[in-house]
Amino acid sequence: MSAMELACPVCDAPLEEAGRTSRCRLCEGAWISEDVLVAILEQRASTLVDLPWEPRQDKPRPCAGCKAEMQTVNLGSVQLDRCPAHGVWFDADELAALLKQAKAFTTKEMAAVSEPKHGLLGKLAKLFGG
Ligand SMILES: [Zn+2]
Ligand SMILES: [Zn+2]
Repeated sequence: MSAMELACPVCDAPLEEAGRTSRCRLCEGAWISEDVLVAILEQRASTLVDLPWEPRQDKPRPCAGCKAEMQTVNLGSVQLDRCPAHGVWFDADELAALLKQAKAFTTKEMAAVSEPKHGLLGKLAKLFGG
C-alpha cells in the first residue's frame, strides 16, 4: 500500500490516521476506505452488509485522495460524499449516525440463511431447557 497524502475535503487540512479511519482535526470529519467501512458495519451488524448507495443532488466536494469531484450520496438517512476508488467522507457525527443504522444494511441472503438456524436453535433450547 502506498501512503497517499489525504486532505480534508472541507478544510483542505491534512488528515491524521486514527485507527482504521483518517480524521480531520479542524472539522472532526472522517475519511474511510469503502472496504474498511463495510468491515466496520459488518462488525456492528454481526453479519454481512450490502451498502445501498443512493445518488443525491448536492455540491460535489473533492476526494481526500485524488481531488476528483466525489459523488454525493445517501446511505440510509446519512448524507455522504464518495470516491469509489478511494473512500467515503463523513462529516462530524455522520459516522456515528451511520453505525447506528448498520443492521438496516444486512444482506437479504444472510437473513434468509440465518433465520431457519435461529428457529432450530430456539427449538433445541426449548428441548434442553426443560
Ligand atoms: Zn476538515
Ligand atoms: Zn479519489
